[in-house]
Amino acid sequence: MADEADIATDYIDRAIALELHKRQQNTVVKIGAKFCKDCGVDMPVERRQFGFQLCKECAEETERRKALFADN
Ligand SMILES: [Zn+2]
Repeated sequence: MADEADIATDYIDRAIALELHKRQQNTVVKIGAKFCKDCGVDMPVERRQFGFQLCKECAEETERRKALFADN
């Protein structure tokens, strides 16, 4: 016997499940590059987990260039 409250709860459960599923898929997409996009070096697992596309050296170089460009 499903009354309106049960139907609403069921609907919310489905909406939450769908949202969690979407977030999990986004997390997969956000995993970083296996190799640095700039120099092609193997990316450490820690950096990939944070979604980085560049190795530490290239990321620092990019930041330096951005900082220089911002000053001009
Ligand atoms: Zn690199």
